[in-house]
Amino acid sequence: MIDVLDLHLHSHFSIAASNRMTVDNILTFVKMKGITIIGTGDVLFNPWKLELEKNLEQEGNGFYLFDKIRFILSSEINLIFEKCDKLRKVHLVLTFPSIKSVEKSRNLLRKFGNLETSSRPNIFIGGRQLVSILKNVDDDIQIIPAHIFTPWFGILGSKSGFDAIEDCFEENTDKIFAVETGLSADPGMCYRINSLRNFTTISNSDAHSPDQIGREATIFKDIKSYEDLFSVIKNYTPERFLFTLEYFPEEGKYFADGHRKCNFSVLPDSTSHLNCSVCGKPLTYGVFHRLLELSGNSYKNTLSKIKYFHTIPLKGIISQVIHKSNKSLAVDREYKKAIDIFKNEINILLFAKESDLISSLPIEIAEGIISIRNEKVIKFPGFDGEYGKIILNYS
Ligand SMILES: [Zn+2]
Ligand SMILES: [Zn+2]
Repeated sequence: MIDVLDLHLHSHFSIAASNRMTVDNILTFVKMKGITIIGTGDVLFNPWKLELEKNLEQEGNGFYLFDKIRFILSSEINLIFEKCDKLRKVHLVLTFPSIKSVEKSRNLLRKFGNLETSSRPNIFIGGRQLVSILKNVDDDIQIIPAHIFTPWFGILGSKSGFDAIEDCFEENTDKIFAVETGLSADPGMCYRINSLRNFTTISNSDAHSPDQIGREATIFKDIKSYEDLFSVIKNYTPERFLFTLEYFPEEGKYFADGHRKCNFSVLPDSTSHLNCSVCGKPLTYGVFHRLLELSGNSYKNTLSKIKYFHTIPLKGIISQVIHKSNKSLAVDREYKKAIDIFKNEINILLFAKESDLISSLPIEIAEGIISIRNEKVIKFPGFDGEYGKIILNYS
């Protein structure tokens, strides 16, 4: 059986998230997208934990079940500490094998930050200490650096990150084996950096609204338990860790360098801009810039051991081919028709046979999906918090 994992999302308690991120809505969209294992998000936040406990049943293997969908207890935290005279802010995704381990962790972490005010709590402690505390609670708690290259909060980000994962976790780095690519990067980009090759890259949606669930995901074969999942990630084997589903990195909000207010962006090169050409203020360096810095300016695309496929959400494809807004009823109607036929979105984007797409869907939609599979697109990179655009290109 194919398993599709998305570990990182946020509940309706999260400040920037949609109030539609309820357990019921998450479940509906998880099924429509074709996810089989989903993170709960925000599990360290008590009101959300209580809502989850009302609905989820322990499966006994580290997964929690709701209507046949497997949930993993997960949360993002914002780790804040000073190192080498610089204030570091690093987002980490944590996963827990049991409610008990969540409760024990809550009791210990509340000494280092307020867990009651935010569902992505600020925890004021160093990376090495955090790992020691959590691994002492339960060795199966996993710590995964989130969206590793984003300027703010990425562990390798330009604003408050480090130059290497080791600089954050020191002698506890061997307890960390996976990193999350984030929307503006893919496994191929991560693989250009020597020190990252020891880590397995996984991809998650970081969804703040139900429709974003599964926009990036990691695809496995026959996952039996929580422990089995992380063992497959840790000891990456292509037979069970099949591939990741990726945004085109250019579509992410931090691919190019730029200044959002002036709508100015530029891709870094040897004569790199330091300042905005319009107002003269310093640019926010994007993920690609950071990647060049960390890989010693190597433009060479090294082949990643991890397979990955770029795509855009199905509604985006339909919207482009029928020339109607993403949120229009017309797009929604075509989307639902396609889901009725092919069961879920990931099946349509990745697995369904081209001949079946052509025989079952309006021809222009089928051709749109096939064009995306063949990466026939024009890319307008995102920058400084602004999403990029991926436009279908048939010619
Ligand atoms: Zn984050
Ligand atoms: Zn400017």
